[in-house]
Parts: sequence; C-alpha cells; structure tokens
Amino acid sequence: MTGSERVFLEALQTPHKRPFSFVDIIVACCGLLLAFACVALLGFGYSGAGVPQETDPQSNGANAITQDTKTLYAVVQNTAGYYAELPLNEETTLEVTSSLGTNILIVSGGMICCTESDCANQVCVDTGWISQEGELIVCLPHRLTVQVVKDPADAIPLSA
Ligand SMILES: [Zn+2]
Repeated sequence: MTGSERVFLEALQTPHKRPFSFVDIIVACCGLLLAFACVALLGFGYSGAGVPQETDPQSNGANAITQDTKTLYAVVQNTAGYYAELPLNEETTLEVTSSLGTNILIVSGGMICCTESDCANQVCVDTGWISQEGELIVCLPHRLTVQVVKDPADAIPLSA
C-alpha cells in the first residue's frame, strides 16, 4: 500500500479529518483549467502555423485534379467471352479461368501483373508489371489479353 492510499483510506475512515479541504479542491480545479487552457492555446497556435503548408491551393489542388484524370483501367478479356474492367487505383486480385487454363492477375500500386499462369510459354508472366496507357499483357495459349486504357471503351475487343 502506498502512502497516498493510506492517507485516502484514513480520510474515508475519519471524515472530520479530511486531507483536502473544499478550498484546496477549488484551487486544484482552477489549476487544471488553466493548464488545459494553455494546452489548447498552444495546440491552436501550432495548427495555425501549419496551415500555410497544408492548404496551398496551387500544389494540392492541381495534384488532386491530375490524379483524377489519370485513373487508368485494365481491361481483361479472353476469347471465351470473359470481360472485366479493373481500375488501376484499386488493389485487386483476379483469377480468370477458361477451358484453356487459369491466369492470376494482381492490381497493386497503380499497376497490373499476371503473377501466375498454367500456360505453356509463360510470356504473360514474363511481361511483369504494366501501368502505362497502351501497354499490354497477352497470354496467347489462353487467348487472354490485359490492356491498360484511359477509357474501357478504347480497349480493342477480342471478339466481334
Ligand atoms: Zn500465358
């Protein structure tokens, strides 16, 4: 038992000899309020000083606009009729299986890659990560293409 606990217990047992008077409690509360006020003022001062860096309209505003217009899509198709549009800004894993075989596609960090395939030549896997408009992953054994486009309507269709 610590010293303060003992004082507290004694205070409970002998209510006429309380260690803290009413005035003491008022003084302590005022002190706490003053401390909170100081912290609030300091915090406000710091955030105020940070404002010019955080809300520079010329840098952040322009960046946000260019990021919006840069959203690219990966259009995944095969000749069996499979079709998918994957926004490159969303992390996704996609498994495309046809009677010819399976391709595992991963979208991460604004890029897409065929990480696994059970095709014969592995050209699709060897292509690696693509992220630029017009880039292409082809799995000829599986009749599958992955095209990076600005607008999914720009993708070259695999079947008429
Ligand atoms: Zn392949």
